[in-house]
Amino acid sequence: MKTIGLIGGMSWESTATYYRLINEAVRARRGGLASADILLHSLDFSLVVDLQKADRWTDAGILLGTSGAGLARAGADCVLICTNTMHLVSEPVARMAGVPLIDIIDETAKALKTDGRRKPLLMATRYTMEHGFYAERMAAHGIHVEVPDAADRTTVHDVIFEELCRGVIRPSSRATFEAIVEKARGTGADSVILGCTEISLLVSPDGLALPGYDSTAIHAAAAVDFALGPQVVAPKGDVQAA
Ligand code: GLU
Repeated sequence: MKTIGLIGGMSWESTATYYRLINEAVRARRGGLASADILLHSLDFSLVVDLQKADRWTDAGILLGTSGAGLARAGADCVLICTNTMHLVSEPVARMAGVPLIDIIDETAKALKTDGRRKPLLMATRYTMEHGFYAERMAAHGIHVEVPDAADRTTVHDVIFEELCRGVIRPSSRATFEAIVEKARGTGADSVILGCTEISLLVSPDGLALPGYDSTAIHAAAAVDFALGPQVVAPKGDVQAA
């Protein structure tokens, strides 16, 4: 089994989900007491948020790239940036780490394409929805993301930072997120990307007005495929490791 390097802590609420999902998948595939071989560097999120707010993306890239390089030195065979937002600096991080970076945007695009989705609503932080890096990378896969209107973008961003990243789950925010997805269905979106790694703590991708794609679960599954090799579906529907 290969060693998975996680650059986490952004926030730790979602890194905990990564840790659980990756270990559950390895146990499901290997059986018994098998668990994942993981190296985790959990950053102080307040430092990252300060850099985001100050628009200091070069410095953020160096911070995460240094983390990735440390994980690679410690034996990681790949690295994951456990947040959509910080994929804004995925290129310098990949360069500095020097091992494969499993990209959350590419993996989410693959999942959408497999199901024939072309026009997803993107729910994410303001940086991810507005900075352009996410939409550009999706467009390279032939997928054209829609974003909520300005007021709804502010709401989604604020719920992520004021609630979800602090471990606060409010039914009223769940209802608000569900209503935003409902609105997008009315304007022609064919799916919804939970494009922030904490959103699945609030809403289930299966309980929305549009088919949901949970970036955290997709990213974690890609890490397991890297570590164990992709799953092969046998003719009778049995699933086997390659
Ligand atoms: N975890 C979130 C994401 O997936 C937001 C936290 C951050 O700003 O990195 O974008």
